[in-house]
Formats: sequence, C-alpha cells, structure tokens
Amino acid sequence: MPSHAKNGSAHSQREAQSEQRFRALIEHSADAIALIDSQGKLLYASPSTQRLLGYTPEELLGRIAVDLVHPDDREHAMSTLAAVRHTQETSLTVEYRLQHKDGTWRWMEATATNCLHNPHLKAIVGNYCDITERKLAEQRKNEFISMASHELKTPVTSLKGFTQILQRRFTQRGDEESLRFLARMDGQINRLSKLINDMLDIVRLEKGTLAYREEPVDLAVLIQETVENLQASAPNHQLQLEHIVPASVFGDPDRLGQVIVNLIMNAIKYSPHADTVLIHISTEKQQATVSVQDFGIGIAEVHQQHLFERFYQVPDPMEKTFPGLGIGLYSASEIVKRHQGRIWVESKKGEGSTFRFTLPLRKHDTSSNSATTQREA
Ligand code: ADP
Repeated sequence: MPSHAKNGSAHSQREAQSEQRFRALIEHSADAIALIDSQGKLLYASPSTQRLLGYTPEELLGRIAVDLVHPDDREHAMSTLAAVRHTQETSLTVEYRLQHKDGTWRWMEATATNCLHNPHLKAIVGNYCDITERKLAEQRKNEFISMASHELKTPVTSLKGFTQILQRRFTQRGDEESLRFLARMDGQINRLSKLINDMLDIVRLEKGTLAYREEPVDLAVLIQETVENLQASAPNHQLQLEHIVPASVFGDPDRLGQVIVNLIMNAIKYSPHADTVLIHISTEKQQATVSVQDFGIGIAEVHQQHLFERFYQVPDPMEKTFPGLGIGLYSASEIVKRHQGRIWVESKKGEGSTFRFTLPLRKHDTSSNSATTQREA
C-alpha cells in the first residue's frame, strides 16, 4: 500500500475517534446543548435534554426554542437571542424558566453563543444548566430576609417615635445631659433602620420590584431636611451645607433621600477621627451635581471601582471596625441610575473621600419657556 494511503486511513481513523470522543462528551455532559438556527428553530438537542426537560431530542427538533420559555421570561430570552445574533462567537448568559414535559417549570441558566458564521455549525449554540434548586434556595432566603426585616421595622419605627417624644420633653426641661445620651441613642436607631432598609432593598433590587414614584423633587430642600435629621443624631460631626443652590429634578423623593442618607451616614461612619462633612449642590448645563465630602479614612484606588457592587466592602484588617452589609452604595447607584444619573467617588487613602452624583434637571430650570420635565418629554 502506498504510504500516503496508509497515512490517509490512519488520519481518517483518528478523525473518527476524535468525533466519537466529542459525541460521547456531549452525550454524557450534565448540561444540555442545543443548536438553534437563525429563525430560532431547534436543529439539535443533546440527549441530556431528556433528563433536564423530559423531552427526547427528537420531540424537540424543529420546534421554536422560545416557545418552551415561561411567558414572563420570554421577552428577556428573545432580546438575549437577538443580542447574540449581533455578536460573533461571544457568549451571553441568561436565566429563565423552561417548561418540563410534565408541565412544571424548571429554572435554567442558558449560555448562547453565535456560531451562525461557523461553517461547521451554522447555528446559535445554547448550553443549558438546571439551576432550579439554587433559585428555590435564593427565593427562600429572600423571603426570609424580607419577612425578618419587615418584622424588625415596626419596633424600630416605634423606638424612633418615642425617642423624638423624649427629645422634646428633655428640651423643654433643659436637660442637656439626657439630650446628649438620647442623640447617641437616636444615632444607633438610625443605623439600625438603615441596616433594615438595606436588607429590604437588596431583596427588592434582586427581584426588580423596587417601586419608584415620579414627581418633581426640590433637591436643595430634600438635602436640607435630611441634613437636619441626621445632624441631630451625629453630635460628634458637623454636617455643613457648603453651597446649596435650587435644583429641581424629577423622581422619587424617598429614594433620592435614601441616596443622600447613605452617603452622609457613610461620611460620618468612615471618619471616626475627623469631624467635618461638607455637602454641596451645583447645577451646570442640564444637570445637578450633589457631593458629600469627608476627611476620614479614605479609600485606596484599587477598591474605588468596586464600591458600587453588591456586598462589596473594603477589606478591614481589624475586622468589624465598621459594621455594615455592603449594600448602601449598591442601592444608591441603582437608584441614581434609575433617575438617569451617575455616581462616582474621588478619594485618597488616609485623606478622605468625596462621593458625587448627578441628576438631570427638570427642563424648566434650564430652558426658560417650557415647563415640561425631561421625563415627560
Ligand atoms: P457598608 O454597609 O459596608 O458601609 P456601603 O455599600 O455603604 O456598605 O459601602 C461599601 C464600602 O465602601 C464600605 O464597606 C466601605 O469600605 C467603603 N466606603 C463607603 N463610603 C466610604 C467613605 N465615605 N469613606 C471610606 N470608605 C467608604
């Protein structure tokens, strides 16, 4: 036999072996793999699909993939698929529910990769992993956090109310010493209620159910009121309204108030050895900028870009010098983004930090004749 023929057969043998190996790999994989054509039709489903969804691959071939997706998740699944079509060989991951043959819904983590341009595949490759158990555990955890924080809220609100009554009584009596103790107690109640609100928010943010009101908000008034409230319970710090100009924005006053509270409470908390916090509003072009500056511990540059991530806390060598959940800045940034604004930090370790956020001004503040707001336009 000529040597090239011998080589050829060895080569095709190797190819066949390698194909068998890849086929076995796919067939025994715990995850399911599907190939979807440019119209969204299923061209191939790996055998493990049956374990995940009860259907044999043959039962699924030719079906439109998103038809199996839960109606509430369909739009999200379809927009991800559309986004994948505009990329090449990059993957997008999405979580949605697929209906099992027995009618139940299973949570899947689906990763889609556009291989339509790959001559061997000419398809979108979908990789499916069943995450139902994880989702159920998350749901149970969220329900628990939400229930526990709701239960905690009522007694804390009542403590806050009684503290205010006592504050009025002691003020009438001129009892300065008791007022000082009460101010410290009030500060601790504020911390507790911030922790509870953070816990409630994390659940609402994860579920996407954080409700927002839409109304005109006078930022200067909101900041003045917030500062007055917080100053009463922070006797060791001076909250100074440095430069306050009228700035009317559109949004949810409670949520925006929460952003300001978070930033000021952090400024106080992270400056144990400094006593000044400067608060500033400016308006320029069509936006208002609010800044909260402290002269506290500051933040090293490596951490600055992560501060707005969920649960991120700068590692603390002393452990628990500054108790917290690492949620405040995450929810502040989600709220600011929802209001079409931006939030960022400028800081130097050991010297202090300035947190700033911008919000679009209502139109009538920037253009003389129109009273319409930016949101309404
Ligand atoms: P936490 O509940 O831990 O305060 P946040 O989301 O409000 O959570 O803040 C995230 C982290 O950012 C904090 O743990 C802290 O390390 C850092 N940080 C926030 N504000 C300041 C500040 N004004 N000065 C220094 N560090 C800060």
